[in-house]
Amino acid sequence: MKLRFWGVRGSIPTPGRNTMRYGGNTPSIELRLNNGELIIFDAGTGIKNLGDELISRGESVKTYILITHPHWDHIQGFPFFKPAFVSGNEITVIGTDREEIDLEHIIADQMKKIYFPVQLNELKADIHFRSIGEEEFDIFNAHVKTLYVNHPGFTVGYRIEYQGKTLVYISDNEPFDRVSAHRVTNFEPVVLKKFFSMEGDPNDRIKDFARNADILIHDATYTPEEYVEKVGWGHSHYLFCLKLAHEANVKHLVLFHHDPGRTDENIDKILDRCKKEIQKSKFSFECSAAYEGLELSC
Ligand SMILES: [Zn+2]
Repeated sequence: MKLRFWGVRGSIPTPGRNTMRYGGNTPSIELRLNNGELIIFDAGTGIKNLGDELISRGESVKTYILITHPHWDHIQGFPFFKPAFVSGNEITVIGTDREEIDLEHIIADQMKKIYFPVQLNELKADIHFRSIGEEEFDIFNAHVKTLYVNHPGFTVGYRIEYQGKTLVYISDNEPFDRVSAHRVTNFEPVVLKKFFSMEGDPNDRIKDFARNADILIHDATYTPEEYVEKVGWGHSHYLFCLKLAHEANVKHLVLFHHDPGRTDENIDKILDRCKKEIQKSKFSFECSAAYEGLELSC
């Protein structure tokens, strides 16, 4: 499997001098299976540049877009994904329905006339929607598992197993804590119940899901110091990611969903702190901070 990161920033696009190296686009990742088949994680603003690249190559596009959750930073690039405007292309959007709105409307409603000049039903590509829950299914020859994780309105984590290799993508996930979970009000009751029902550490759900991954891409929005003030916001700090990667026996951890206030120098420092922590704790996995253009294989 080959990965290329097109958007690595959380919450809101952050163009400008201070984010030139890591990039300011919101989440979107290209995954190529060994025969070139294309899967895309999330449709944040990064998907626009991916779409432009696909168009410039003249490739006909058959792809699955796996949406983690419908917060803006994960869907707002979809209306700018040029392959969706081209007849003959085939796009299947995969994600969860919500109580008040199904997956198709989640994407369509952000393209209503008042927000955008082109409506979903005017796009020329063949566009399908597939609503999922916590389950397992196959796309192309890859096996996909999903897991609900801890975020306001909840997020879906994806585990892809393909030809003996495993990739896990968990954006927007907060360490679950039994005490503080009673205080947050905007987290999905169904998901909270899953965490509460775990015996021992509720975060073992995540650990089991990420077990033995060759690559784990995980939300690392905060530093541990910042997190103290952000409990209940639905994001992780890097120490949680390091512990998770170690305990789940991950080979390569990729810090993802950088805070919009983070400059390139800040991210360098965080990566440096992580590498020191890994050395000190005698952990054995590799650690990178995601940036636009980063390519990884497994
Ligand atoms: Zn996000």
